[in-house]
Amino acid sequence: MKIAVIGAGAAGLAALRQCTSGNYDDEVVCYEKTDQIGGTWVYREETGSDRYGLPIHTSMYKNLRTNLPKEVMGYPDFSIPKKSESYLSRTEILDFLNAYCDHFALHPYIRLLHHVELVEPALGDRKWSVKVRDLQRDAVVTEGFDAIMVCNGHYFEPSIPEISGHDIFAGKQMHSHDYRIPEIFDGKTVVVLGAGPSGMDLALEISKNANRVILSHHLRETICTVFPENVVQKPDLMQLTERDAIFSDQTKEQVDVVFYCTGYKYSFPFLAESCGVWVDSNMVKPLWKHLVSIENPTLALVGLPYYVCAFSMFDLQVRFVLRHWHGERQFPEKEDMLKSETEEATTRIFKKHLQKRHFHMMGPEQGQYYADLANIAGITPLPPVLTKLHNKSSKRFLDDLVHYREDRYTIINDYKFLQN
Ligand code: FAD
Repeated sequence: MKIAVIGAGAAGLAALRQCTSGNYDDEVVCYEKTDQIGGTWVYREETGSDRYGLPIHTSMYKNLRTNLPKEVMGYPDFSIPKKSESYLSRTEILDFLNAYCDHFALHPYIRLLHHVELVEPALGDRKWSVKVRDLQRDAVVTEGFDAIMVCNGHYFEPSIPEISGHDIFAGKQMHSHDYRIPEIFDGKTVVVLGAGPSGMDLALEISKNANRVILSHHLRETICTVFPENVVQKPDLMQLTERDAIFSDQTKEQVDVVFYCTGYKYSFPFLAESCGVWVDSNMVKPLWKHLVSIENPTLALVGLPYYVCAFSMFDLQVRFVLRHWHGERQFPEKEDMLKSETEEATTRIFKKHLQKRHFHMMGPEQGQYYADLANIAGITPLPPVLTKLHNKSSKRFLDDLVHYREDRYTIINDYKFLQN
């Protein structure tokens, strides 16, 4: 098969590694629009657009340390070296991805500075037509492929709620996608909107520079973590005036900055409508197993589930897809795939009172998802210890945000214990 991989982040590299493993005789090309591999782990000072006029992809900030221990962040066949501490810096993860790329000799397959502009079903010998711009030469080429793995990430298109009065607020408003260093908040009063992993991590990080941080969220109870004294929690931000933020408990605060840590939207700007995949309230559909296009099963979208052991899951998803593409497993009938998606949506969204936009959220359910993929495709499963450790460290993050990365939490002992 001739396979196109779109993006050379952690998911695209896993796709390349498995396509070139020697199990199959595939021809593969990976297009990457930036000048290096690593995706969101590549830190760039600039925000907005790059020198080619494309939006900056990365959301990485300077002081980021992982919120998961390295024991759950490696690939199944290439783990992060044992000697380092559990919670790594962004540079260590990027170094790790480069080491993975070197180890499996993936560079020859990657075309850097190649921006995929359009993917659509083709009429000729190949199933897919991919239109790519070579950014250095400013030349467009169109190439045919039998199958496509979309690995373009999902932390680059900010989701920003429209707060009443946002257009008259005289202070600064920014999304975490554009955040790089805490010094920009020196002496300021900042409302951080959203208490997901980013909102929590960033409220803490900027509290060292900001005068006061107001963490606004719609969780029913206050988060029990012990924040520094200059961080307070408030319910939803309801309205902005020229200088003030008004919250749903009717309290009012004069603020300098509204900092949106409100997450991201799934976005596939290069997929033509005829690809048969769309985003509905941040649920990507119609997909079989959060992964395979039901309309066109030779199109796979790798890496959509979140709150997962990401790199291992990418590897598993790619192996799952390749088994089907190579006929070692048959795709179910279209009606059955649609039924499976509807049933899962009913269970996960309606019965658990979640919203559509939470459809790809895994968390405690990730183990079941991994087992399901492995069983269906008859491939080596992910070890259950990964899920246990992920769940344990997520809980620790919530319980003790300030200290959860410290050495006294001995992850390696957890690992040994949870393995049994
Ligand atoms: P990305 O890393 O986003 O890579 C996508 C690639 O596709 C990019 O290189 C991009 O340039 C390229 N691309 C996009 N569009 C095109 C196009 N049209 N043409 C060509 N190329 C294209 N995960 C963890 O497991 N632990 C953590 O601690 C953690 N911390 C995080 C902190 C932050 C701030 C963020 C944003 C994410 C974090 N994540 C973390 C999640 C992280 O996104 C995943 O771990 C993983 O790196 C995602 O890999 P990816 O390949 O799916 O996407």
